[in-house]
Amino acid sequence: MNILILGSGGRESAFAWKIAQSPKCDKLFIAPGNAGTGQYGTNVNIKVTDFEGIKKLVLSEGINLVLVGPEEPLVKGVHDFFLADADLKHVPVIGPQAEGAQLEGSKDFSKQFMERNNVPTAASKTFTKDTLQEGLEYVASIGLPVVLKADGLAAGKGVLICSTVEEARHELNEMLTEAKFGDASSRVVVEQFLQGIELSVFVMTDGTSYKILPEAKDYKRIGEGDTGLNTGGMGSVSPVPFADAAFMQKVEERVIIPTVEGLKKENIPYKGFIFIGLMNCDGEPWVIEYNCRMGDPETESVMPRISSDFVDLLTGVAEGSLNEKELTISDKVAATVFMVAGGYPGEYLKDKVITGIENVRDSKVFHGGTYLDGDDIKTSGGRVLAISSLQDNMFEALQQATADASRIYYDGMYFRRDIGFDLL
Ligand code: AMP
Repeated sequence: MNILILGSGGRESAFAWKIAQSPKCDKLFIAPGNAGTGQYGTNVNIKVTDFEGIKKLVLSEGINLVLVGPEEPLVKGVHDFFLADADLKHVPVIGPQAEGAQLEGSKDFSKQFMERNNVPTAASKTFTKDTLQEGLEYVASIGLPVVLKADGLAAGKGVLICSTVEEARHELNEMLTEAKFGDASSRVVVEQFLQGIELSVFVMTDGTSYKILPEAKDYKRIGEGDTGLNTGGMGSVSPVPFADAAFMQKVEERVIIPTVEGLKKENIPYKGFIFIGLMNCDGEPWVIEYNCRMGDPETESVMPRISSDFVDLLTGVAEGSLNEKELTISDKVAATVFMVAGGYPGEYLKDKVITGIENVRDSKVFHGGTYLDGDDIKTSGGRVLAISSLQDNMFEALQQATADASRIYYDGMYFRRDIGFDLL
């Protein structure tokens, strides 16, 4: 099979690494990819939202399967584009059509979906400019802190947690009347705060059956001890010790089954990943959000734990035969430390030469924001390299990933040395 991965981050590097190991994969392409994905396949400089460019590539290279990494092309309808095109419709796309991608593309859609399907989630109401007054009253009625969520995609920045009613009212007003997050905040979900500890659960579905991939925990804040600004993710670990069998059974019964059944019942076709952001509140799972794709940096800890052939699983999703496929999961522990650019998540340094990757001893280096400049590997993005280590226990995995990150250098480099240590 010839396979195309859309995307250019650490998640796509981890996919590419895993897919390249499958005997079922003949040629692998990554669009646009980065300096690391070129080790596993051919990078093609096409944007993930350039559907016409993707079409040309698929036809010229005889691509048999497309795996979509990020949410943007899904929400913009890349899967629908394939289905509507006579030349492309036979090429399976892993990732939902635009309607299913609304689980991530619209917080209001996903809250309503959860409510209709009895999936446990925080109480909420959605407001627009026209219902601002009601919204201002509602924020005072749901307890503190108050969670405000821009309805649409806002590059991970559209959620505000306000500790006073005044702040919540001010922000709600800014979001609805001043377009604080552009169009994304023309509708705002106002939600009760859930107190607990977060984790990410990943489901692969062909629309009928499902498989639960290894769960993971990610670390979003820039600073050690979970302090400072939010980022795209500074590291992850899998498995998550508090997600024991009893908890995961609740997740499956109360969240996963109603979600997959709900999609079916509502005739929403869905072939791809469902990323469920959960809060564990005193042992009970509550859904914070759905995403319509895998997580980054979680994928970099999830892929190393999957022992079975990932292409075989993807084929099962494409063909509707996922229930016949084998998913085996290693009981080893994976830890990922993300090395970021100086200044990130604010304005950050770019074009810095990266050295020392060859000194890494027992981790995978999944490239994120990197590019090749002649023989040099240089930084391009905020999140530069994901260092993932798979070891017998969590302490060793964390220690190895952290030690290997220290063997790499570029001007301004930074990474957290405390990823996962709260779980030991
Ligand atoms: P989201 O974009 O929905 O994942 O929200 C971003 C982050 O905000 C989540 O990862 C949580 O840390 C936090 N968050 C969102 N909703 C809630 C909630 N209802 N209660 C507590 N924290 C939340």
